[in-house]
Amino acid sequence: MADAIVVVTGAGGFIGGHLVRELLSAGQRVRAIDVKPPAEWFQRFDQADNRVLDLRELPNCRAAVADAHAVWNLASDMGGMGFIENNKALCMLSVLINTHMLLAAREAGVERYFYSSSACVYAADKQQTADVQPLREEDAYPAMPEDGYGWEKLFSERMCHHFLKDFGLQTRVARYHNVHGPHGTWEGGREKAPAAICRKVIEAKLSGRLEIEIWGDGTQTRSFQYIDDCITGSRMLMASDYAGPLNIGSNELVTINQLVDLAEEIAGVRLKRRHNLHAPRGVAGRNSDNTRILQVLGWAPSIPLRIGLERTYAWIYDQLSRR
Ligand code: NAD
Repeated sequence: MADAIVVVTGAGGFIGGHLVRELLSAGQRVRAIDVKPPAEWFQRFDQADNRVLDLRELPNCRAAVADAHAVWNLASDMGGMGFIENNKALCMLSVLINTHMLLAAREAGVERYFYSSSACVYAADKQQTADVQPLREEDAYPAMPEDGYGWEKLFSERMCHHFLKDFGLQTRVARYHNVHGPHGTWEGGREKAPAAICRKVIEAKLSGRLEIEIWGDGTQTRSFQYIDDCITGSRMLMASDYAGPLNIGSNELVTINQLVDLAEEIAGVRLKRRHNLHAPRGVAGRNSDNTRILQVLGWAPSIPLRIGLERTYAWIYDQLSRR
């Protein structure tokens, strides 16, 4: 199948760009699709068939999947907590992308279809304390996901499940926990905590104004996986026989204050902290239970946060100091 076409949607985005690079270096023929103008893609590779299409429209999805044997659907209108708390309708409209991509993939006889879901599908009542129990796949039900973004992801997961059960389309569903790394969103309002904190620490260092605003009281906990683990896990899941939703996430739990400590250590500065208690902070705690992924893939994300954050920091430093 070396010459069969593999489609990556959201290819101009963070995870999509890294995935396209990996698939190309594995010798695959990649059709890379995003709605953004090419100049705004985080990474773009001349060896791929790069196309600008709005995948909310069914005819565009049909064009996207023509002659393809596999589809990686990573396209969605999303961002960090600041974006998803204030843009719930926009987040839910991504349901059009996955719905039309599934329909088009089924019509085209696509063999495998990957959907990037999120830890935001997990029920709110299981994430109420900072020393949270790591989330197992079954903890998404009874359902009470993140409003807007999480409901769309959970609904789209189920749509993938039923396309497999009813129509035989081989769907694979990853529940990504927070991913960070170079070539991702780091400013503009859609960035997530690791990139936002690296940017703020670098701005403080470069400007000499040694202070930082932190959203919430900083005691909320999260786990952050490095992009290379995310790509490795996604490719293993896509190649596997496992069709249920699967966590792909780190289980190295830290508070947001500890994340700031790490970024400060990397930068070699100490900053005065101002906690903004009115800013969006999300759930009190969230961690990935990796029992299932270890059973199914014999592997789990393991790149330490310190190593990943150094690379994320270095890349953002480069972007900022080029200005
Ligand atoms: P991203 O925002 O960097 O990339 C998503 C891409 O989808 C963007 O380039 C965007 O332009 C594109 N897109 C949006 N609407 C589109 C449309 N109508 N047609 C075509 N393209 C469209 O996000 P990412 O971090 O690379 O995330 C990729 C996927 O993984 C998303 O589905 C996201 O929800 C999921 N996810 C990401 C994380 C994370 O921490 N980054 C965590 C959980 C889940």
